[in-house]
Amino acid sequence: MVNQVQRVDGSWLSCKSDSSGTSNSGGESSKESSRCSTPVLDAVRSDRLRDKMRRRMESGDQWFSLEFFPPRTASGAVNLISRFDRMGSGGPLFIDITWHPAGDPGSDKETSSMMIASTAVNYCGLESVLHLTCCNQTKEKITGHLAKAKHLGLKNIMALRGDPVGSDWEEEEGGFNYAVDLVKHIRSEFDDYFDVCVAGYPTGHPEAESYEDDLRHLKEKVDAGADFIITQLFFRADTFLTFVDDCRAIGVTCPILPGIFPIQGYQSLRQLVKLSKLEVPEEITRVIEPIKDNDAAIRNYGIHQAVEMCRVLLDSGKVPGLHFYTLNREVAPTEVLRQLGLWIEDPRRPLPWAVSAHPKRRVEDVRPIFWASRPKSYIYRTQDWDDFPNGRWGNSSSPAFGELNDYYLFYLKSKSSKEALLQMWGEELKREESVFEVFTCYITGQLNRNGHKVMCLPWNDEPLAPETNLLKDELEKVNRRGVLTINSQPNINGKPSTDAVVGWGPAGGYVFQKAYLEFFTSSENVNALLKVLKKYEPRVNYHIVNVHGRNLTNAHEMQPNAVTWGIFPGREIVQPTVVDPVSFMYWKDEAFALWIEQWAKLYEDESPSRMIIKYIHDNYFLVNLVDNDFPLKSCLWQVLDDMFELLDAPLETLADGMPGDGSHGDGSHDNGTLAE
Ligand SMILES: Cc1cc2nc3c(=O)[nH]c(=O)nc-3n(C[C@H](O)[C@H](O)[C@H](O)COP(=O)(O)OP(=O)(O)OC[C@H]3O[C@@H](n4cnc5c(N)ncnc54)[C@H](O)[C@@H]3O)c2cc1C
Repeated sequence: MVNQVQRVDGSWLSCKSDSSGTSNSGGESSKESSRCSTPVLDAVRSDRLRDKMRRRMESGDQWFSLEFFPPRTASGAVNLISRFDRMGSGGPLFIDITWHPAGDPGSDKETSSMMIASTAVNYCGLESVLHLTCCNQTKEKITGHLAKAKHLGLKNIMALRGDPVGSDWEEEEGGFNYAVDLVKHIRSEFDDYFDVCVAGYPTGHPEAESYEDDLRHLKEKVDAGADFIITQLFFRADTFLTFVDDCRAIGVTCPILPGIFPIQGYQSLRQLVKLSKLEVPEEITRVIEPIKDNDAAIRNYGIHQAVEMCRVLLDSGKVPGLHFYTLNREVAPTEVLRQLGLWIEDPRRPLPWAVSAHPKRRVEDVRPIFWASRPKSYIYRTQDWDDFPNGRWGNSSSPAFGELNDYYLFYLKSKSSKEALLQMWGEELKREESVFEVFTCYITGQLNRNGHKVMCLPWNDEPLAPETNLLKDELEKVNRRGVLTINSQPNINGKPSTDAVVGWGPAGGYVFQKAYLEFFTSSENVNALLKVLKKYEPRVNYHIVNVHGRNLTNAHEMQPNAVTWGIFPGREIVQPTVVDPVSFMYWKDEAFALWIEQWAKLYEDESPSRMIIKYIHDNYFLVNLVDNDFPLKSCLWQVLDDMFELLDAPLETLADGMPGDGSHGDGSHDNGTLAE
């Protein structure tokens, strides 16, 4: 049985109780533990959207949200996903994705509304609202879309009538004629699962018989179960404030969010005004007509006008949050929000990794460290798990990772074009050392020999994380010598959880880390490393594996090693990142495949450049090292120094006791030597 326990902050936790309904206190007589079923670290993460709004309104904390439309092309989708990641950092309460019946919006295409909204939720961790129009649609089709949205983890729908494609709207007997029919359908078929939003028109819908008539129909939508309203755009604050008063006067009590449209260009303004059948007020046309050919001037005016109007709205006390029509652009909405003080980049993270917003993942609180720079791939490969995780890593006997053959999937694709990748990673590679140079330039931020900055690697699609910057000098040194690092973290011994670089979790806690280093390197280097590592037993744990799965380790084959954990007031220790030996073997396949899929395939078949990458793929080892003595200065750099020293020593020293490379190629576990 599951009981609810209310916390001081108003959120609810589910706790197991015995069959009598009394909660277990953990006393001697109780057979079950008093542990809650999930140690919810971030209560807001499990709230529904309407509860998040309610909380923000109660605390007087104003918010913003952002509307996007689905892009036309696959590369447009990749760009939009990056935009979500960037604009998500400013803290929108939610984003919403429009629905255009002509564009196959419910399909699996990367450009469909359904897929874009699902990606925003699952891969970017953004609370998202999917628009859905119902006119000229069968009940089965609409139910199918809603069921698919639910399956994908979407929890919020903007219920719209829409407009018929290419003709005037006509009532259809037995069909969905108005948005209210869709709201009722959602509530009857899906009960309270979705939070539902509807559209409001501050000057009345253009087809409405009267403003008052339209208001009455708006109230019908709310009475049928809508949770909040977003309005059509408008140009004067008074228009909206009068509309809110009129809604309240007829008993509409739910949140009403003003649709803000920062004017970004002359043409886009004209187009939008035509579509929404609105009139631009004279005071605005007077300013923009003379500057209509000057995009920058119009945009600056648009920002100024939006900021002034939003200030009036926010000061009125009638506006809980602002909703922005972004037109998929970044500069103007971001600038307006900055000037209003609503754009807040909070460097604090609820967990060290970016969380997903899929409801089934809300209890997820541990991941293997290997995917730290490829979280979207981790989410993709674990999307079929029904259990997160609590127990997954306690008993990781078979963490079935889905295949990752779909490198073309838009949320996994590199953000850079083939041309840009070749500029960064080399049009032509001459030797293995050319590859070392690419890694070194990525670490140092220096231009490569052709004058290009290396902004990403196949394993890291972003520039170096601030935390990794702490290790920059050491990383540079080892990469120059062919220790090709793809993941690392410094050791941390009890820094405040609010620390700008390494902090995470609620304020008032302390975070800890073991030093970690992961890299590809040649078998010659591994030979020396294995010899050196003997000196560091049991302080350093290692896994060393080649593409064939030959695995050399001194760790227990089933035992995860916690490498990040945090201690917070009034709760159990949270350990969000582990080195898990079983998962490492799945990660290894992905890590090696990236050499070929993302790098080698940039070059012609059989070309020297492709052969060099292929040689590395076939012959190098993937190594991870953990220094368990986290309170001491990390010894991992010393381990590598010792390895280089051994490599630089006369040949007999290295050969002593370490002959050959002796690859098994059978996935078996070894203990500590490449020798057979
Ligand atoms: C915030 C917002 C987002 C939008 N997103 C999209 C989108 O993603 N895709 C898209 O195609 N369009 C979108 N639209 C446009 C919208 O589809 C059109 O404005 C459409 O004409 C009306 O949709 P609705 O849901 O407001 O309709 P409704 O609420 O059904 O209203 C339509 C008209 O019918 C009248 N009416 C309502 N109920 C009744 C009734 N019972 N009897 C008689 N008359 C009634 C209303 O007064 C109104 O005039 C959006 C509009 C807004 C404001």
